[in-house]
Amino acid sequence: MRQNKAYLTIKKMAPKKRDAKQRISDFNPTYYIFNKDEAQNQSLRCLKCPIDLLKGMSSEFNFCKTGCPLENKIPIWIEEVKRGNIKEAFKCSNETSPFPEILGMVCPQDILCQGACTIAKTEMGSVTIGAIEVYLNEQAFKMGLMPDYGQKKEKIGKKVAIIGSGPAGMSCATFLLRAGIGVDMFEKSDRPGGLLTYGIPNFKIQKNVILRRFNWMQEAGLNLHLDTDINSSKQIKDMLDKYDAIFIGLGAPKSKNANLKNEDAHGVYHVMDILRHAQKRVFQDFYESILENKNVVIIGGGDSAMDAVRTSIRMRAKSVRCVYRRDEKSMPGSRKEVVNAKEEGALFEFNASPKEVIVDQQYRVKGLLCQKTKLVDSDNSIRKKLIVLEDSDFSLECDIIILALGFDNYVFPWYDTAEINTGKWGEIIVDKDKRTSNKRVFAGGDSVRGADLAVTAAADGKKAAFSIINDFIKN
Ligand SMILES: Cc1cc2nc3c(=O)[nH]c(=O)nc-3n(C[C@H](O)[C@H](O)[C@H](O)COP(=O)(O)OP(=O)(O)OC[C@H]3O[C@@H](n4cnc5c(N)ncnc54)[C@H](O)[C@@H]3O)c2cc1C
Ligand code: SF4
Repeated sequence: MRQNKAYLTIKKMAPKKRDAKQRISDFNPTYYIFNKDEAQNQSLRCLKCPIDLLKGMSSEFNFCKTGCPLENKIPIWIEEVKRGNIKEAFKCSNETSPFPEILGMVCPQDILCQGACTIAKTEMGSVTIGAIEVYLNEQAFKMGLMPDYGQKKEKIGKKVAIIGSGPAGMSCATFLLRAGIGVDMFEKSDRPGGLLTYGIPNFKIQKNVILRRFNWMQEAGLNLHLDTDINSSKQIKDMLDKYDAIFIGLGAPKSKNANLKNEDAHGVYHVMDILRHAQKRVFQDFYESILENKNVVIIGGGDSAMDAVRTSIRMRAKSVRCVYRRDEKSMPGSRKEVVNAKEEGALFEFNASPKEVIVDQQYRVKGLLCQKTKLVDSDNSIRKKLIVLEDSDFSLECDIIILALGFDNYVFPWYDTAEINTGKWGEIIVDKDKRTSNKRVFAGGDSVRGADLAVTAAADGKKAAFSIINDFIKN
C-alpha cells in the first residue's frame, strides 16, 4: 500500500476564530465552521489507517478511533469528505454518533480522537477531526439531509422512560427511537439538553444546534416532559409499573464548595448560577446582568472556570480575574480556552490559594484574601506538591466571587425505592451494560462517572440503549 504523505506538505489548520474584540460583545460562536476547501484540504492529511485491521492489536497502535469513546469510524467519513461525498460521510458519521455536529464542537479532541491520531506525535500535528466532523454534518443539514430517528421503522410496542435530557439521555433516546421503541423523557428544567444547554456557554456551542436535535426527535415520536422534577418514590414506583425499562441520566449537579471563611456572603456564587443566569439572558428570559460593572474573581483552573471567566467578560464585568492555586502549566482544562480567555482580557493570579472572603458590614463581598503558594517535587507522585507560603497573605478587591471547583453526585432519596445501589461518591453503580442493581433500570453519564464529558455521557447512553434493545429482543 502506498503511504499518503500529504500531511507532510499540507499544514494542520484549526478553524478560524472571530476577533477577540468582536467576540466579547456577544455570545455568538468563537470559531467559524470550515468551508468546503478547508475541510477537503485538511481531510487530505488523513493517512486512512486501516482501523478495523488494527482493532485488538497491541495498545502501541493508537489511532483516532481508539481515542473516541463512541468508536466513530473517522477515517471512513474523512475519506468521503475528501471525495466530496457528503451524503455518505453523513450516514457513516451519524450511524455511530447520536449528535456528531455537537460533539465535534465540544469534545476536547486533543485528549481524545486527535490525541490518538497516528500523525499527532509528528511535528505536523494531528488531523483536525472535530472541525471536519462539524463541517460535514452542517453541510449535510444545508443539503436537507436528516438524521435517522426511526421515522420509517415500525414501533415494537415497548416503552422506555428517560430521566434527564442531557447528552446521556439524548443519546439513549436516539438509539431507542431508531429501534422503534417509544420514549418518554422527563426533564426538570424549562429547556432540554442538560449542561449542553445551561452549562457550556453559547460561544462554545450554539443552543439552536441542540434544540434542532430535540425538534427532530419530537417529530419522530419522542414525548418530552419539561419542568418535570422526578423527586419522589411515588413517581418512580409509577414509572416502574408503566414502562418496560428506565434510563437515568441525571448528571452530577452538586457544585463543590471552597470551604472558605464567609463563603456564604452576599456576592459569592457557584459557577452554575452564573452560567445558567447568562444563558437565560441569551434566551431573553430577562435582561439584567448581575455582573455588570462588578469586579469579579473566579476561583478554579478548569474548563468551567474558563467558561465563567469568558462569560463574565461578556456580561460586562468591570474586571475579571481568575485565581488558581498552582501555576499556569498545571491548569487542568483545555489550553486553547486559557488562550481564548487571555485574548478576551482576563487577568490571572497563579500560585494563589484563597483563604477568606473579605466582607463589609452588610456581609457583602469586598475582596478575597489569598496566600502565595509554591510547587515542589514530590517523592511519591508525578504531580508536584503544593506548599502554602507562610506570611504571604495578600488581598484582591472584588464585588463578586465565583466558585468553579467541580461537581459532585447527588443521591436522590428515591434511589432506594428503585433498588439501585450507589458508590462512595454517590455515583450510581452499573455493570458493563450500564445496568444498575435493578435489572430494568439503566444509568449513564455524570450520574455514574462523576463530572466528565459530553462524549462519554453519549457513549453511556448509547451502550444502555443497546442493552435495553437486547433485553427486548430476548424477551
Ligand atoms: C460549565 C461546564 C462546561 C463544560 N464544558 C464541556 C466541554 O466543553 N466539553 C465536554 O465534553 N464536556 C463539558 N462539560 C461536561 C459535560 O457537559 C457533562 O459531562 C455532560 O453534560 C454530562 O451529561 P449527562 O447527560 O450525564 O448530565 P447533564 O448534562 O448534567 O444532564 C442531566 C439532566 O438531568 C436533569 N435532571 C437532574 N435531576 C433531575 C430530576 N430529579 N428530574 C428530572 N430531571 C433531572 C438536569 O436538569 C439535566 O438537564 C462541561 C460541564 C460544565 C459544568
Ligand atoms: S465524538 Fe469527539 S472524540 Fe469522537 S470523533 Fe467526534 S470529536 Fe473526536
